[in-house]
Amino acid sequence: MEAQLYYGGRGHPGIHARIFAVDNPATNEVIGNAVLADPDDVSLAVDAASQAFPQWSRSSFRDRSHVLLAIYQAITDHREELARLLTQEEGKSLAESDAEIRYGARFFEYYAAQVFQSYGHMIFPPMNSHTGWTAKVPVGVAVLITPWNYPFAMICRKMAPALAAGCTVVVKPAEQTPLIAWRFFSLLHTLALQPGVINLVTGDPEVVGPALIQDKRVRKISFTGSTAVGRRILSNAAKNITSVSLELGGNAPFIVFDDANIDDAIAGIMACKFRNAGQICVAANRIYVQRSIAPKVIRQLVKAATGLVVGNGMAPNTQIGPLINQDAIDKVITHLHDAEDKGAQVEIGGLRRPGPGYFFEPTIVTGVNEGMLLVREETFGPVAPLSVFDTEEDAFQTANNTPYGLSAYVYTTNLGRAMRASQLLEFGLIGINDPIPSRVEAPIGGWKESGLGREGGDQGIEEFLETKYVSMRF
Ligand code: NAP
Repeated sequence: MEAQLYYGGRGHPGIHARIFAVDNPATNEVIGNAVLADPDDVSLAVDAASQAFPQWSRSSFRDRSHVLLAIYQAITDHREELARLLTQEEGKSLAESDAEIRYGARFFEYYAAQVFQSYGHMIFPPMNSHTGWTAKVPVGVAVLITPWNYPFAMICRKMAPALAAGCTVVVKPAEQTPLIAWRFFSLLHTLALQPGVINLVTGDPEVVGPALIQDKRVRKISFTGSTAVGRRILSNAAKNITSVSLELGGNAPFIVFDDANIDDAIAGIMACKFRNAGQICVAANRIYVQRSIAPKVIRQLVKAATGLVVGNGMAPNTQIGPLINQDAIDKVITHLHDAEDKGAQVEIGGLRRPGPGYFFEPTIVTGVNEGMLLVREETFGPVAPLSVFDTEEDAFQTANNTPYGLSAYVYTTNLGRAMRASQLLEFGLIGINDPIPSRVEAPIGGWKESGLGREGGDQGIEEFLETKYVSMRF
């Protein structure tokens, strides 16, 4: 596939027509090329978005809603093809890719309805000579920067509320996954949207990123990615006081109490830890098991992980695909060596699979402690580190002992304990006996160094709206 940039309603090869290759992480084969945009390309994309903004921002709710529904339908009609490309480019299994495409599509369906709710309200101050009202207005040109691990859904989770709000957008996907973004844009092209409403730039983040962020016409930056890059974006955006939303990294605790249904908890850990080979911001990164049930949980988990099928995501029985690249493999190995040096035991896995592709064995590690990289940082791989706790108080305290605050999970059948977990855990998203709590209708976002703002639900659209208050004397 030869991907292009997209602005002003059509594809462009880039001013200097420079390209970079995109690999399949399961085979290391080149599957396409994308354009290394130049700062002038970026400027042209922002020109297009700025010029389109006045008309699009004044379009009726109804017209915007119809556009969103048409996008939902276009994705749904091409679901299978998109899922195959996603697997080839990112590596996850076909079943997971299909789930991601459906999840992405649903943001357009959901915000097609939410668009009708984005109005303000009347304010009656306590005097009879004035009245006032608030209006919700689109913030302006929005830049949407997305990661490689959910390269389709993360574009949708931002683009749907941005368009619903009346913003025009410039999307910057990750270098590892520009092809799915380009295929999506070429589908959107067939819908003949107003030129300039949607724009796409790809390439070197050190060239494209600053060009986007420093452009004064950009009024919103919505970023999903690592905390390190998010911090840089926030600081660079300070120059123009640009509004920033950040969906950053996590370090999710997964706590299993001795009153939990153990089979259910094992299924929860498997879903929460091994989906997308563990490359998920909300993946269980630290698993805490109450002492009396620990031997049983470890035994059952080792059995379940032993049965996982690792392979090319295109094969129908594959459950775990490759990691994204060599850096990802290196990070997992560094974390495992650090843990072993500090006394942890690898129960199963722990090795890279030989041959092409970045495959890593599903791995269970026990005897983990709080000093290890495995529990201090996001491992972003198929490694489940377990440690043991004694009391509820210890469990919650240890879970909160991190600068991150994206998601946390608790397995218990005790209602009081579940309620205390919901109150005491310092995370934006808490799954109680629920390993996959993310929903299109629900707000997702992090506390502390996991981010600012929310995506999804009725709060998702607010990130792209400004409030205007009008006071009128009569
Ligand atoms: P990343 O390295 O931070 O990159 C994210 C995006 O930022 C990519 O498009 C990247 O481009 C771009 N970027 C890098 N440097 C930039 C700069 N100076 N200016 C502007 N853009 C720049 O993260 P990643 O490795 O793609 O994704 C994994 C991370 O995302 C994990 O930490 C994960 O937890 C997090 N994540 C969070 C959520 C959430 O909802 N909170 C969801 C998914 C992922 P290049 O790819 O070209 O470098």
